[in-house]
Amino acid sequence: MEFEIETDRDTEAEAEAEAEVPKEPPKIHRLDESVVNRIAAGEVIQRPVSAVKELVENSLDAHSSSINVVVKDGGLKLIQVSDDGHGIRYDDLAILCERHTTSKLSTFEDLQSIKSMGFRGEALASMTYVAHVTVSTITKGQHHGYRVSYRDGVMEHEPKPCAAVKGTQIMVENLFYNMTARRKTLQNSANDFSNIEDLLKRFSIHHINVNFSLRKHGASGADLHTVGTSSRLDAIRSVYGVSVARTLIKIETSDNNPSSSVFKMNGFISDSNYVAKKITMVLFINDRLVDCTALKRAIEIVYAATLPKASKPFIYMSIVLPPEHVDVNVHPTKREVSLLNQEVIIAKIQSVVESKLRNSNQAQTFQEQIAEPSPSGNIGIIKDSSFSSSPPGPKSQKVPVHKMVRTDSLDPAGRLHHYLQAKPCGPLENNPSLTAVRSSVRQRRNRKETADLTSIQELIDEIDCNCHSGLLDVVRHCSYIGMADDVLALLQHDTHLYVVNVVNL
Ligand code: ADP
Ligand code: MG
Repeated sequence: MEFEIETDRDTEAEAEAEAEVPKEPPKIHRLDESVVNRIAAGEVIQRPVSAVKELVENSLDAHSSSINVVVKDGGLKLIQVSDDGHGIRYDDLAILCERHTTSKLSTFEDLQSIKSMGFRGEALASMTYVAHVTVSTITKGQHHGYRVSYRDGVMEHEPKPCAAVKGTQIMVENLFYNMTARRKTLQNSANDFSNIEDLLKRFSIHHINVNFSLRKHGASGADLHTVGTSSRLDAIRSVYGVSVARTLIKIETSDNNPSSSVFKMNGFISDSNYVAKKITMVLFINDRLVDCTALKRAIEIVYAATLPKASKPFIYMSIVLPPEHVDVNVHPTKREVSLLNQEVIIAKIQSVVESKLRNSNQAQTFQEQIAEPSPSGNIGIIKDSSFSSSPPGPKSQKVPVHKMVRTDSLDPAGRLHHYLQAKPCGPLENNPSLTAVRSSVRQRRNRKETADLTSIQELIDEIDCNCHSGLLDVVRHCSYIGMADDVLALLQHDTHLYVVNVVNL
């Protein structure tokens, strides 16, 4: 019965599907420009924080020294960015918000050496397709500024004169007013404001000579306020707090070999005292705030191996390369870039991070152990134990894998003799000549025994003459690893591993 019903359903479904298949291929038509623009805009401006990033980057491109951001309702109601940059000419206002209008790029070749953050002329246009945009601006030498509002890329009216001091103010209101689904998903998200705050914190520790502020609309105080400084560490301290800044180690490296890589890197990385749930990686490549998953992962690997307890570090890193070595045009929101010789650069940075961490970890362990109180009160013992658990100097340096030795064969504890010699014979070990020992023993014994010992002596002499010096060295300076079975033992000599028949030996 059930089987029959299912068959019926299948037949129905097939019939429906057949009805849906059109007889002719669907006709291709050109999309209306406003639809194209709105689709593109949705990609460039994904969330309120993407709009803030574009606006702040425009302000930085305009050489501003002060950038103030006001946000209402996580940016959905209002994002207002004011700067004191060079402003926008009156004549440019008409095309300011059209797609692909920019003052930063003229030819495709310019992209090779682009220094500004913007270059596509898409951001402002995109905002006008998904929000209401109003621009107020004044250029140097003008008595008053101009204000104009935009909708779908065009001015809503002629620019109106307005009072202005210096720079540009851009207001983005009712973001995604015409994209119901996007607005709904974002309305429920509580972290838009913190995303914006996080973004401005990142900008502010890189552009340390620019004052940044972030305020919620209607609030009397700012949530973030930075004042220009000449010290990066001071900037990090004021933005991320003393507790982060005090864990930071300065790091830098560079390479100038065109056949491998050309770059300069400097930054700060946290030490073992920084413990967090997730990694904070603030990365600027040629002054562009970007993500680089490969580099982030490479650094995480080093931390996990070196400082497992502090394996989610705080990293600020600025990498500078010749502009022609960076492709900035690989991501719709320019969040990722692609680098020439990326793997070599990452490997170099990884190794400098590793050596910094090893050094800091070593110093740290040493310090902590010295400070530990001794239950017995014996200072001498504490010092010894701290040295042995935290080996100083060369021992802790990285040994290439092909030279790694399991234990130090020169250390008596690692030698085969240490395991095989019977304890009563111990004192004789230091005697320089085995023959001398034997003769001294012989003198204390009776004739018969002496005769026996002479034969043994002859035997030993014979062995001494015929022995293989290479093998003798192996046996003398090997490290005993363990028994492989009842008869065979594993020994290590230099970087070689030997299986030895203990019975024969
Ligand atoms: P892009 O930054 O890629 O050029 P945008 O759409 O972000 O494109 O901006 C278009 C143009 O508007 C910029 O090239 C710049 O000349 C001008 N502009 C935008 N914001 C500002 C600002 N805050 N100060 C001065 N000029 C600005
Ligand atoms: Mg821009």
